[in-house]
Amino acid sequence: MASLSLKTFIGLRQASPETHPSATLLKPTSVQPPSHSRRFRVLAGKFSPKVAGRNLRVAVIGGGPAGGCAAETLAKGGIETFLIERKMDNSKPCGGAIPLCMVGEFDLPLDIIDRRVTKMKMISPSNVAVDIGRTLKPHEYIGMVRREVLDMYLRERAAASGAAVINGLFLKMDIPKEANAPYVLHYTAYDSKTGGAGEKKTLEVDAVIGADGANSRVAKAIGAGDYEYAIAFQERIKIPDEKMKYYEDLAEMYVGEDVSPDFYGWVFPKCDHVAVGTGTVTHKPDIKKFQVATRLRARDKILGGKIIRVEAHPIPEHPRPKRVSGRVTLIGDAAGYVTKCSGEGIYFAAKSGRMCAEAIVEGSENGKRMVNEEDLRNYLQKWDKTYWPTYKVLDILQKVFYRSNPAREAFVEMCADEYVQKMTFDSYLYKTVAPGNPIEDLKLAVNTIGCLVRANALRKEMDKLSV
Ligand SMILES: Cc1cc2nc3c(=O)[nH]c(=O)nc-3n(C[C@H](O)[C@H](O)[C@H](O)COP(=O)(O)OP(=O)(O)OC[C@H]3O[C@@H](n4cnc5c(N)ncnc54)[C@H](O)[C@@H]3O)c2cc1C
Repeated sequence: MASLSLKTFIGLRQASPETHPSATLLKPTSVQPPSHSRRFRVLAGKFSPKVAGRNLRVAVIGGGPAGGCAAETLAKGGIETFLIERKMDNSKPCGGAIPLCMVGEFDLPLDIIDRRVTKMKMISPSNVAVDIGRTLKPHEYIGMVRREVLDMYLRERAAASGAAVINGLFLKMDIPKEANAPYVLHYTAYDSKTGGAGEKKTLEVDAVIGADGANSRVAKAIGAGDYEYAIAFQERIKIPDEKMKYYEDLAEMYVGEDVSPDFYGWVFPKCDHVAVGTGTVTHKPDIKKFQVATRLRARDKILGGKIIRVEAHPIPEHPRPKRVSGRVTLIGDAAGYVTKCSGEGIYFAAKSGRMCAEAIVEGSENGKRMVNEEDLRNYLQKWDKTYWPTYKVLDILQKVFYRSNPAREAFVEMCADEYVQKMTFDSYLYKTVAPGNPIEDLKLAVNTIGCLVRANALRKEMDKLSV
């Protein structure tokens, strides 16, 4: 989902590996390893023991964007890689909005992107609509993908890079008692040709990456602890062709107590339908009521539509208390890397997968040495240093602007400001924050305070009315 930035609103500034016999290899189809594929430069020798007679073995549990990207990077870096995914045609419930930088950074082919959104409407509780895409340059857009397409592409690319992709349900793992002894993974292997209930198997590996999403079994296995989560609900609605034209390159975000007390409702365009959804942390039992309200708000534009799929899933609100234990670590939703306020997690999943795998490749000297907890902690440190400010600012933004309808009106009013739009889109699309303009920053700070004062005054008047 679109990342509603950031510091701007509140004046902050931040500048062929062998294949295991049990592996069902996914035959790469049209996927070729991207042209920029490279071996990683190893910076320094380590004191950990050499792996004798083979390369380091790492299992990645879960084949979403986090797992697919981790497995690809590991395999390219000389690690014997196993990617275990329970459902090869999994269609993760998701809005499917990705930032432009993900397309370039992860070499995504344009034909897996359903829509290029250049117009984003932010719609207030009183239905004031502000178009927040006005500052986009001609080549800039928010990508809209179907997750079944994106995830399969990334998994196939991991396979093309040398990862053994296993269709299996991870069940549990035996954690070794001795240093450098293997982790034994227990899983049910499925065979798409024969079908059936699957066959119980085990796999011994040196390290494990948990990329198995919000309900991560790997997280449970290492006692990673829980996180607060939102429940998100989404309906895929096939609307008449003439209505679809409106959403050709346009997405909508609705804010208001009706659609969610602490999140927003959305209408995101897909190839031949729209995804309409909402989420909440604080009022989970009311999620269906919020969904009906979101549909109602968009009713003129989706009139005549037919619901073709209903889906719901948790969205983590913050990282888990523990993200590494021994030679096991977590990435993506399993770790809890979704931004508050915007609910964005696809890019962060892919990026954390890649960062984590790079740390393993480097720490193991391209698979020649055993890794240890310290190597995995290097990934966590880098991750926290890079993204902690983004998470914090979005957290504050949510607290300030999603607390009442008057505050939401103020928020939408501020979105009309071109400077706000530019900074918002720059930080969302590129995951970096462009240097600001001090005079515009000052004007913005004054405007922000003005909007909030108006919002407060309005709230007091409304409170009086309700007494
Ligand atoms: C309704 C909704 C809308 C959203 N909209 C957006 C959006 O528009 N943009 C955005 O950036 N983010 C969005 N998000 C968040 C985004 O979907 C997640 O952050 C992202 O999918 C995380 O990727 P992941 O690879 O970490 O986990 P997942 O995508 O959850 O992938 C986990 C994978 O692990 C597999 N798996 C799980 N358990 C096992 C097991 N035991 N054995 C084997 N395999 C297993 C699953 O089948 C799955 O393929 C949305 C989330 C929801 C719920």
